[in-house]
Amino acid sequence: MSLHFILYAASDYYQLDDLLTPEEKNVRNQIRKIMVEDVAPIMVEYWEKAEFPHHITPKFGALGFAGGPIEGYGCKMIPATACAVAYAEIGRVDPSIGSSLIVHSCLTTLLIAQHGSDEQKQKFIVKKGAPGLTVTKIENKVALRIVQNRDVIFDNVFVPDEDKLPYLTSFQGFVKAWITLLACETVALGRELLGGNGILTDFLVAKAFCDMEPIYSYEDTYEINCLITGREITGIASFKHPAMEKLSRL
Ligand SMILES: Cc1cc2nc3c(=O)[nH]c(=O)nc-3n(C[C@H](O)[C@H](O)[C@H](O)COP(=O)(O)OP(=O)(O)OC[C@H]3O[C@@H](n4cnc5c(N)ncnc54)[C@H](O)[C@@H]3O)c2cc1C
Repeated sequence: MSLHFILYAASDYYQLDDLLTPEEKNVRNQIRKIMVEDVAPIMVEYWEKAEFPHHITPKFGALGFAGGPIEGYGCKMIPATACAVAYAEIGRVDPSIGSSLIVHSCLTTLLIAQHGSDEQKQKFIVKKGAPGLTVTKIENKVALRIVQNRDVIFDNVFVPDEDKLPYLTSFQGFVKAWITLLACETVALGRELLGGNGILTDFLVAKAFCDMEPIYSYEDTYEINCLITGREITGIASFKHPAMEKLSRL
């Protein structure tokens, strides 16, 4: 089975494609083309040498994709559903590229777009070389190896009021327990089906098996998502963090 075939044979048993508009399909297909033609042939090589293929970044830039659903500030404003199917398409082929783009487009720029002041949206908030800020590369990872993770250490860092996001007052929890657990079970089953071949990166399932591990951690583990959901439903926190204690009725 060729790599080309594996990557195009995305099953759509629920015919979700029928629910997409032509514009949404167009965004998904443009992303799919980059992922299949430019990323898939090199992703194992870059995964093994733990480097990011910077030469593919302009391809996403040319689509105006990095700004996601943000309007203005040089962003193209891609509708939310089109973004979601595009992110799914990227993650389907390579979760390292998926994590990098989603952290950039959703965790950082979208957070500033939604919760920042007009002045903040014109500039980057965290500057390299700021006093007290140390950033070191995390080496020796067995998963998401294309992502260039850093340890970020803040030592006596002073954040002026004008650099705080004024409209961000809380973090909201999401129910992700079922999705992350099922994803782990799915890659484990794929790994089992392939037997000895399942440990070769050529067959991709070993890579998916490893890449799922940090996703399971950074989306929060099954236990943590259940605890958060339980607190939301009952109002009672079964885990006690000092900062959370005032939310608990215990
Ligand atoms: C690739 C990657 C990228 C990341 N990127 C970011 C980022 O951009 N920004 C950021 O802020 N963080 C980031 N993180 C950190 C991530 O948010 C944490 O790894 C995650 O929240 C888990 O925390 P932890 O690793 O300290 O594990 P811990 O919280 O120490 O958990 C270890 C284990 O203990 C269990 N556990 C913990 N507390 C309880 C409890 N009260 N009751 C029962 N069981 C419990 C957990 O389920 C887990 O199995 C990243 C992590 C990874 C792996």
